[in-house]
Amino acid sequence: MADIIDGKAVAADVRESLSDSITTLKDAGVTPGLATVLMSDDPASETYVSMKQRDCEEVGVDGIHVELDADAPAQELYDTVDELNADEEVHGILVQMPVPDHVDTRRVLRAIDPAKDVDGFHPENVGRLVAGNARFKPCTPHGVQKLLEAYDIETEGAEAVVVGRSDIVGKPMANLLIQKAPIGNATTTVCHSRTQDLEGHLSRADIVIAAAGRPAFITGDMLKEGATVVDVGINRVDAENEKGYELVGDVAYESAKEVAGAITPVPGGVGPMTRAMLLYNTVQAASQQTGIEIDLA
Ligand code: NDP
Repeated sequence: MADIIDGKAVAADVRESLSDSITTLKDAGVTPGLATVLMSDDPASETYVSMKQRDCEEVGVDGIHVELDADAPAQELYDTVDELNADEEVHGILVQMPVPDHVDTRRVLRAIDPAKDVDGFHPENVGRLVAGNARFKPCTPHGVQKLLEAYDIETEGAEAVVVGRSDIVGKPMANLLIQKAPIGNATTTVCHSRTQDLEGHLSRADIVIAAAGRPAFITGDMLKEGATVVDVGINRVDAENEKGYELVGDVAYESAKEVAGAITPVPGGVGPMTRAMLLYNTVQAASQQTGIEIDLA
C-alpha cells in the first residue's frame, strides 16, 4: 500500500517558508507584485485566476488583476503586457492560457519581460532551463520536484518516465529530471501519443510522472512494484453529484496505490504545488529585480 504524497501539506510548507522572504522584502520597502491577465470566458480559466489572486492575498503578495474581453483585439493584450512590463510594482506577469484563437500565443509569451516571466515560458527562460541555469522553473514541474524532495524520493540513477511532452509540463519536467543537480540525475524517458510500448516503459520506471490529460489511463498493473507515481493530470469526468462532474487524474488511483510505493492523489497532489510555486517564483522575481537578498529554499 503506497504512501500518500500530500501536496496540500507540502504546499503549505512552501508558503510558510516564503513568509520570511516576503517580510525581508517588505522591510526593504518592496511588496512582491503578481499581475494576472485573463482574456477568456472559460469558467475553468476564471477559477484558476481567482485562486491565484486569493493565494497572493493570503501570503502578502500584491495581486494585480487585468481582465480583457475574450473578443477584444489582440493588440489590447500585447499593450497590456507592455504596460505591466514597465510597471515597477509588478514583478511577475502571468497571462492565463489558453488565450483566444485570434491571439498569437507565441507573441504573447515573447512579449513578457523574461525577468517577470514567472511561468518560465519565454524562450529565453526555456533556454536557460535546458542549459541548467534556470531563472524560473515552470511552476508545475518545479512543484513536482519539491514533492519528490519532501518525501525523500531518490531521483539519482532512478529510471523516470514522464508521460506527456507539452511545453508547460512534460518537456520542462524531463529537463529538470536529467539535470546534473539535486532532484535530478534520473535516467529519463519521455513518452507521448506516438510511443510504441508505453506499458513496457512504465513497467521499468522507478518514478512515473503522468501528464497526458487522459482520465485514469495508467492502471496499477502497468506499474513497477514500489514505484513513485506523481499524477499531474486533472480531468473532468461526468459524475452523479451536484456539480455533475468530478476531477480525476491520469492514474487509476485505487489500483495504482496497491502497487506504488508513493502516490499523489488528485485533487490534493500536484495542483496545490503549482499554485505555491507561482508565489515562490514571484518572490524570487521581486528579489532578482530589486537586488534585495532573500533566502529561498
Ligand atoms: P497537453 O494536452 O498539452 O499534453 C498532453 C501530452 O500527453 C502530449 O504530449 C500527448 O502526446 C501526451 N499524450 C496524450 N495521450 C497520450 C497517451 N495515450 N499516451 C501517452 N501520451 C499521451 O497537456 P498538458 O501537458 O498541458 O497537461 C497534461 C495534464 O496535466 C492535463 O490533464 C492538465 O489538465 C494537467 N495539468 C495539471 C496541472 C496541475 O497543476 N496539476 C498544471 C498543468 C496541467 P502528443 O504530444 O503526441 O500529442
